[in-house]
Amino acid sequence: MAQAFLRNESLTSSINLTNMHYLVTGAAGFLGANLAERLLNLGHQVTGLDNFHSGSRENVTQLQRQSRFRFIEHDVVRPYDVPCDVVCNLACPASPPHYQRDPIYTAKIAFLGTLHALENAERARARLLQASTSEIYGNPLVHPQPETYLGHVNLVGPRACYDEGKRLAETLCADYQRLGRVDARIVRIFNTYGSKMREDDGRVVTNFIKQALLGKPLTVYGQGQQTRSFCYVDDLVEGFLLVLNHPDNLGPINLGNPQEVSMLTLAQAVQKIIGSNLPLQHQPLPVDDPQQRCPDITKARTLLKWEPQVPLEQGLMQTVQYFKKSAIR
Ligand code: NAD
Ligand code: UDP
Repeated sequence: MAQAFLRNESLTSSINLTNMHYLVTGAAGFLGANLAERLLNLGHQVTGLDNFHSGSRENVTQLQRQSRFRFIEHDVVRPYDVPCDVVCNLACPASPPHYQRDPIYTAKIAFLGTLHALENAERARARLLQASTSEIYGNPLVHPQPETYLGHVNLVGPRACYDEGKRLAETLCADYQRLGRVDARIVRIFNTYGSKMREDDGRVVTNFIKQALLGKPLTVYGQGQQTRSFCYVDDLVEGFLLVLNHPDNLGPINLGNPQEVSMLTLAQAVQKIIGSNLPLQHQPLPVDDPQQRCPDITKARTLLKWEPQVPLEQGLMQTVQYFKKSAIR
């Protein structure tokens, strides 16, 4: 249904996505830096745009080692004009402590940042990838979540600046698509982890790894029975490329790992890899923390032939190696 709704013939003519110029907003962040690195390795030219609101300068320094990378320091809340063939709109804090620190600014980033990405894409006649999120499903009453589920979001809760901001961002993309103005492709990203995350990111995987490496107790919020599904970053980036290279705009598409684990199970897995055995430290469950989350990836499996390849234990081991080498001080 979503496919027919969003299909716009004037936008879906196939474009050659090799040797192209990609604009990646949020390139200093976890996903942006991984995506930019992959695009550079594929031979593309990449312009990264970021204001370091939640990203890391080290990620940009590493990308700058490649001559086909250029960086622009800019706040996406203000318009910009960057000629390019593809816009990947990733700029937005994703970790709850980061996006809740200044909720009004987060709402502006989600809305104005996406509007400006779409305006830039329209001017440049570029295709656009919009980084949406499983948070648009809120605390879901349907499980696992298919793309057709419309969600269950507390619109006045502390997560709403992000959740509702990202929902409105999807609406903007759908309208630009429907009006034939931009081929805007929406990926709904479920919890992803891996190298290039900041050690003070505040999300659960980085918290647990950092705590275990420092010999501290792991902080489990609530009883730890809540579930998430963790996708390794390389798998996710592969999904981005498949969505962008597909001849059609398929409408919103879930990208995530369907292996669902509780936070207690995750804590045990991290402890096992690092060899830490301190008792867990239970802390209050944050307000509106979703109790369960797992993607239904039937659409991605069927239309993109995509599914995650990296098992949780392997991805955690690779992430621990990254933090051992670069991040934990
Ligand atoms: P991140 O915080 O590591 O990266 C976001 C980047 O955007 C940072 O470099 C930050 O400095 C930049 N940014 C934020 N506000 C900006 C502004 N006003 N102007 C310019 N740059 C700005 O987060 P991430 O995990 O890499 O997430 C990237 C995107 O993917 C986000 O849009 C997020 O909503 C989405 N997403 C991520 C996940 C995940 O699990 N990682 C899940 C769902 C959705
Ligand atoms: N969480 C936890 N300990 C932490 C950080 C998070 O138990 O140190 C829990 C959090 O309550 C949530 C889950 O881990 O249920 C995932 O949290 P994260 O912030 O990584 O992402 P999101 O809530 O956005 O899925």
